[in-house]
Amino acid sequence: MRIRVQKFGGTSLSTPEARKHVLEHIQAARSEDCQLVVVVSAMGRQGEPYATDTLLGLIRQNGDQLPARERDLLMCCGEWISAANLCNLIQAEGIPAVVLTGGQAGIETNDAYGNAQIVSVQPKRILEHLDRGEVVIVAGFQGQTADHEFTTLGRGGSDTSATAIGGALKAEVVDIFTDVNGILTADPRIVEDARPLTRVSYAEICNMAHNGAKVIHPRAVEVAMQANVPVRVRSTFSKEEGTLVTNPDSLYGAEKRVEDRHVTGIAHFGNITQIQVPAAEGQYDLQLQVFKTMAQHSISVDFINVNPSGVVYTVFDHVAEKALDLLRGLGYKPTSLSGCAKVSVIGGGMNGVPGVMAKIVEALTEENIRILQSADSNTTIWCLVHGEDMVSAVRALHKSFQLHK
Ligand code: ADP
Ligand code: ASP
Ligand code: MG
Repeated sequence: MRIRVQKFGGTSLSTPEARKHVLEHIQAARSEDCQLVVVVSAMGRQGEPYATDTLLGLIRQNGDQLPARERDLLMCCGEWISAANLCNLIQAEGIPAVVLTGGQAGIETNDAYGNAQIVSVQPKRILEHLDRGEVVIVAGFQGQTADHEFTTLGRGGSDTSATAIGGALKAEVVDIFTDVNGILTADPRIVEDARPLTRVSYAEICNMAHNGAKVIHPRAVEVAMQANVPVRVRSTFSKEEGTLVTNPDSLYGAEKRVEDRHVTGIAHFGNITQIQVPAAEGQYDLQLQVFKTMAQHSISVDFINVNPSGVVYTVFDHVAEKALDLLRGLGYKPTSLSGCAKVSVIGGGMNGVPGVMAKIVEALTEENIRILQSADSNTTIWCLVHGEDMVSAVRALHKSFQLHK
């Protein structure tokens, strides 16, 4: 029998009205004779009673001294509540259903609390329940170590639970239900006329997700790509097909083939600090010392530019002070610019196409936006801009590449 995985995000589960839509999607899948695994996030967003951020707010009230292991226990609860609540709703409709925690569903992780990596998925228990005709509801965002400790997979990690389970079950498709009509050419909260993409490759979406398009977790896409399981990102609140994420070989139809589409989308994220460390005359070990020190203190660096006059790179704002202190401790005189944003132009088909960078520079210059730094790969061009320019930069680039069409 065909197996389908459906994942519902926080906003899809937050109100009785929203949960009615969830129920309709579950019933629709069952009417198509699919065995069904439903992965859930915690209900709602910050401020709502059982959301992950609300649970974390409980401990922040008292200064947040909770060790990572216990914090993961706290966070796991949000998805348990959500799963049990949905189970109740489904059972009330006469549909047999069962709830499993991530660990019970067979998700084993390492012990990196707060950002655990999935080591393996053994879906034996899921399969037993499916064979009994039950809908299996799995609490997303979590797993268990070999020592039975509870772990979480990083914020937004329910997407990864869904694709990992989909891969292990060889599901026909993993549906990621959310509050937008699929993966759009840019964040619709910023670009009003952003357009849903019909079909995209895993690589393109992985790139978009890594660069800030938080509609799907980047690790979820990587896991799906490895297992070659198709993913659909779609709205809980409509019947539209949404975006199909799959291999480029299967990208035909309404959407252009990847290589015919120079630019697929624009992504962005803010709250980063640019750090410049000038080298003294004849100083050759600067880059080694700087990056070794950052690594020793687990500070992740980005946008790295090494040249004879020094090094330039970015870190997240919240670790910038620590990074600068470390550099001063080494005897350097770093300068910094906080509150910057990274705006990315992404397209599987831009490799070797002349004029893409020229178009970016033209679009940003017209809006008086200064590019503080840039970098490129064969599928992405990144620009660092002042934080206050982020929204207008995304809009200008979206318009310049005519992504609304
Ligand atoms: P969920 O709770 O369903 O997991 P998320 O908030 O994690 O939902 O992700 C959905 C949100 O991602 C949307 O509301 C949208 O604002 C944002 N988003 C950012 N970039 C994009 C994009 N390129 N396409 C669609 N949505 C995007
Ligand atoms: N509830 C978790 C979070 O808010 C996981 C998720 O929503 O995917 O990060
Ligand atoms: Mg999400």
